[in-house]
Amino acid sequence: MATININYDKLGAGYLFPEIARRAKAFAEKHPGVELHRLGIGDTTQPLAPSVVRALQDAAERLSKGDTYTGYGDYEGEKFLREAIRDAYRERKVEIELDEIFVSDGAKSDSGNIQTIFGPENIIAVQDPAYPVYVDTNVMAGRTESFNTVTGQYAGIVYMPCHEHNDFFPELPSEKVDLIYLCSPNNPTGAVATKQQLTQFVEYARQLKAVIIFDAAYSAFISDARLPRSIYEIPGADECAIEVNSFSKSAGFTGVRLGWSVVPKSLITEDAPASKLNALWYRRQSTFFNGASNIVQYGGAAALSPKGRRECQAIVDYYMQNARIIRDGLTSLGLACFGGDNAPYIWAKTPNGVRSWDFFDKLLREAHVVTTPGSGFGPAGEGFIRFSAFGRRESTERAMASIRAHLKT
Ligand SMILES: *Cc1c(COP(=O)(O)O)cnc(C)c1O
Repeated sequence: MATININYDKLGAGYLFPEIARRAKAFAEKHPGVELHRLGIGDTTQPLAPSVVRALQDAAERLSKGDTYTGYGDYEGEKFLREAIRDAYRERKVEIELDEIFVSDGAKSDSGNIQTIFGPENIIAVQDPAYPVYVDTNVMAGRTESFNTVTGQYAGIVYMPCHEHNDFFPELPSEKVDLIYLCSPNNPTGAVATKQQLTQFVEYARQLKAVIIFDAAYSAFISDARLPRSIYEIPGADECAIEVNSFSKSAGFTGVRLGWSVVPKSLITEDAPASKLNALWYRRQSTFFNGASNIVQYGGAAALSPKGRRECQAIVDYYMQNARIIRDGLTSLGLACFGGDNAPYIWAKTPNGVRSWDFFDKLLREAHVVTTPGSGFGPAGEGFIRFSAFGRRESTERAMASIRAHLKT
């Protein structure tokens, strides 16, 4: 008799994006002819950089001929791409060896799968609010109780609240935790951790032999030179941190699919000497994964070439101009806004303590703008709403014009 993984039944939420779609659809059906403006999606809209397209085409062309055709590549990714990734770290004065880099099909899979190399008894800590993958994958792995609809939390997870008064970066957990998920620049708050803030966590992790899983998917959006783009810019982080990154947001690969993780050989836990976790991740990937698409890996290397980087940077700058338009528009209406400086998300405080979903409905009803309610990312997101800068310029401008013209404040 087969049985199911009952941990899946513990999942409570996961209804965020379907619920947004449901409400937007219901509104559109009731008001035919009304144009909906979408500032909710965390998906890219700008076309791929020309260098990337050429590299993808060339790679496909090579597969069309018998003498240049290739099949399975290395599980950990093509050497040329890992070299390009290593060189990009080197510019930040971070030394990473090629066998510490694992190319993948994206940061979602890596940030979800990484917990499988850690024991079931590890205590997990997450930023609240956070990207839902960190919590949900640990629920599925059986590290929690069921979702508590009253608290909006899972017993067994340590939530590290991110509020206005701590600049949306958490204090150290007051209890002992083993695996700490940090995301900077943060989705959804747009907050970026400073060197000092990360140093605190690195020191805590080294002291307790905890491991930090650092999601740097938005690192390309950091323009302030003082802010760290990699956790390995913090001394000692190679002993306590795994970094996950992606081409999705930096090069528009959300549909193309490519990412990487760094698992340093110097990373240790109480029961794992140097190189052990690196070997476990290799073992995990080589068992469950047959490598990222070879065509796509050429596209990734092109995105990291000097020309590709200039082209991708121009796209990042385009999104960041959207971020300014959104933030200036909301600020002029008197809304308190955070993020949007070094991240493509604006985290706006709802007026008069209105609940996230109520403000979502108000924006939809009055201005026909679809956003993302902050409470969907964790209980500390209540009272906030997320605006995404990933839209097209024209749609972003029209959405803001509609908010200015129609939102009753
Ligand atoms: C978009 C996003 C990613 C990227 O995921 P991919 O699987 O690489 O597309 C990772 N982490 C966070 C927090 C994100 O918002």
